[in-house]
Amino acid sequence: MKHTPGPWKVDYRYTCEDEDGPFGDNWPDVRTLDGSQIICMTPQAVQDIPEARANARILAVSPDMFAVIKEMVSCRSDCNDRNCGECTHCKALAIIAKAEGAE
Ligand SMILES: [Zn+2]
Repeated sequence: MKHTPGPWKVDYRYTCEDEDGPFGDNWPDVRTLDGSQIICMTPQAVQDIPEARANARILAVSPDMFAVIKEMVSCRSDCNDRNCGECTHCKALAIIAKAEGAE
C-alpha cells in the first residue's frame, strides 16, 4: 500500500485565518481519522457548494472502497476470458491497477 492508510474522514473543524480573522468555518477537508494528516483540502473557490462536500465524502471513503473492491475481485470472477475489459470484474481489475500506479 502506497497511500496513507485509512480510515479517512471529512473534517469540518478547521478554518483559515488572515488579517481579518478566521474564515471558512465548516469547509470540508479530508483527513486521517485522528485529524493529524491532511489528505485533501477543498479549494477556497468551491468550498461552500454542496458538490464540494459530496466530493470530500467520496474521497474520505476511498481507502475503504478500494479495500472492498480488491477483496471482491480476489474472491470472485465472473469473466470467462479473464481479460475482456468490459465485465464488472475486469473493470474492477483496471481500477485497482490504475490506483496502484499503472497507466
Ligand atoms: Zn472480463
